[in-house]
Amino acid sequence: MNNLKDHLINLIRHQGPIPLSTYMAEALSNPVHGYYMKQDPFGVKGDFTTAPEVSQMFGELIGLWLAQNWIQAGSPGKIHLVELGPGRGTLMQDALRAMKIVPGLIEAITLHLVEMSPVLRQKQQESLSTFITPDWTPHWHNRLNDVLLHAQDGPLFLVANEFFDALPIRQYQKTETGWHERLVAVAQQKAELIPVLSPHPVQYKGLIPEALDRAEIGAVAELCPAGESIIRDIAEHVRTYGGVALIIDYGHIHHGIGDTLQAVAHHEYTDIFADPGNADLTAHVDFETLQERARESGAATYGPVPQGQFLTTLGIEERAQALLSKATEKQRIDIMMAVERLVATEEMGHLFKVLAVADPGLPVPPGFEGG
Ligand code: SAH
Repeated sequence: MNNLKDHLINLIRHQGPIPLSTYMAEALSNPVHGYYMKQDPFGVKGDFTTAPEVSQMFGELIGLWLAQNWIQAGSPGKIHLVELGPGRGTLMQDALRAMKIVPGLIEAITLHLVEMSPVLRQKQQESLSTFITPDWTPHWHNRLNDVLLHAQDGPLFLVANEFFDALPIRQYQKTETGWHERLVAVAQQKAELIPVLSPHPVQYKGLIPEALDRAEIGAVAELCPAGESIIRDIAEHVRTYGGVALIIDYGHIHHGIGDTLQAVAHHEYTDIFADPGNADLTAHVDFETLQERARESGAATYGPVPQGQFLTTLGIEERAQALLSKATEKQRIDIMMAVERLVATEEMGHLFKVLAVADPGLPVPPGFEGG
């Protein structure tokens, strides 16, 4: 039995087919049944493993990246450090530990965690407990906008790893009569969710990026309105108040055609519609669109560069050598495997991309020089 599926089937029977974005938002963030709202999905026993969960080196290098940017910005006495979708809090824990070596930095930070899941907020609180004091405690928010409204007394430093891929997407398919939205309907014979095409072509001419508009009949285009809106807000904020954002996710450097929506449970791909709320749903991030929106809003952008290149430039090999020199035999194997997993082209090194969005007045952020 799946209560969320029953709820969606009822909804669709009453109101008609719903956009994929509505389906995705319900499956991930329904307050009671949403995938992230009721469980911790990470790790070997969970559904998937993210880069910070692979190795402490990932968060440490991002911490040093933030520290370097802080120094390049003139070591401001107050900054707002924001993480979007911090998961278990592992990245932030490792980053803060690395940032502690820079005098004055931790004291300058007001930490904001944008997290909708009560289960994960609890995990984050536990992960960050060693840093928390009566004077230094993270603020949790449901939306980035809640942070930006109040974070106007210092520059913004933001990190988002595997956050944008969880934002709801819409899909459109090209037919003889134009682009039609792909919707979620209920099958005639049985209580199952199925994809259908809207009978009406989209009216708005500029909706599909020009590069995709020339695609062949049958092609699928994806848009992520929530992602576009968030990157615009970030760009406007760093342009106005200073700072820099680092977006890391899997996806493509240029606009691409194709259906990339996928469901994963227990480290295996599964049917997107079979069990909403019990599988992770993600889609590839279109970095070209993010870059365009950020630039239109007056920010500078750097990259996207492949994750392997970024981490290598930041010195993952040197960090691994330092850890290896103190490691047991078992730990040595883990460290070497982690570097491979994060950097190798056939692992996360190429599919994952890194984009920086920055105040145009700041120097080029580390890891993007010459790129
Ligand atoms: N950054 C972490 C977790 C990635 S999973 C890591 O790399 O391990 C996605 C995270 O984003 C989860 O913490 C999830 O609860 C959160 N999340 C997803 N969609 C969200 C939304 N719309 N608003 C706030 N948090 C969201």
